[in-house]
Amino acid sequence: MKNVRPVLRWMSILILFFLFACSTRQIPPVSEPGSDSLASDSLSLSEPASDSLASDYLYAALWYQRGVEAKANIIIQYKLAGMMLNRALQSPDWTAAPEEQQGDYQNKPPAVILDVDETVLDNSPFMSWLAVNNFYYDSIHQPDWNRWIDAAKCPALPGALEFIHAAEAQNVKVFYVTNRPASQQDATRRNLQAVGLNVTNDDIYLKKEQPDWGSPKGSRRKVIADHYRILLLIGDNLGDFVDGYKASYDKREEFLNMDAYGQLWGEKWIMLPNPLYGSWEQAAFDHKPDGKNRSEIRKSMKSFLHVWDGK
Ligand SMILES: [Mg+2]
Repeated sequence: MKNVRPVLRWMSILILFFLFACSTRQIPPVSEPGSDSLASDSLSLSEPASDSLASDYLYAALWYQRGVEAKANIIIQYKLAGMMLNRALQSPDWTAAPEEQQGDYQNKPPAVILDVDETVLDNSPFMSWLAVNNFYYDSIHQPDWNRWIDAAKCPALPGALEFIHAAEAQNVKVFYVTNRPASQQDATRRNLQAVGLNVTNDDIYLKKEQPDWGSPKGSRRKVIADHYRILLLIGDNLGDFVDGYKASYDKREEFLNMDAYGQLWGEKWIMLPNPLYGSWEQAAFDHKPDGKNRSEIRKSMKSFLHVWDGK
């Protein structure tokens, strides 16, 4: 026994040394698709070097696409929508469009309105393509977005099909009000059909399909409300619910608490998470991105953060 103790002591020292060496070993850099020459060349045209090191979409894309936290959140919202739909069908005065639903609407056939992108269809493969190539969604990559839409390859978001099929089984008409342009109507229909939805072009209301159908969706909701009782609005963007969404952060936040709107959230208005893009991002530069480079946009975004002072 006497001779064993020094041996054990030395063995402990060696093990500790080995563990310390492992913990401080430098992890070799992982090669990223975004470091290829095409990405670098493209970025050098529009991005200052300090901002070309990484795409801001990476964390959001990974969370949105692979995070069970994101999927569970979306499923929860659609389950809530299903419960509220049942409640709405029992309540003749129920409407999710108090501004557009005028007159004697109680006996109109029921309908729900869903946005398309990041509400029914999942564009995270495209956003991930931007992320790994260190691209941004900007005028340079607008043609790539159009190619992605034309390919009609978006998968459906979790819970969306179940909700829509349940609504249709209860004779609730489903409309899709999207800010995709009218030129993408066929591609949008093809994609919705490809994921298993029974939809025609008449069910899809696109931006500028009519001259007065701009980005705000109220004018399109009004057309639907003239013939249907709108039970739910489901979307991922403030603009899927109110027309005054192109406003400052403080002004947008008022929509959560206003007497007219506060009670609608989670009951008649169902908001899905989308950390990838949206009018929340545009508010950082007054919804006027034209002429601003990425560095200016990011600087402005940072100026709106509530930042710890380090103390
Ligand atoms: Mg959307």
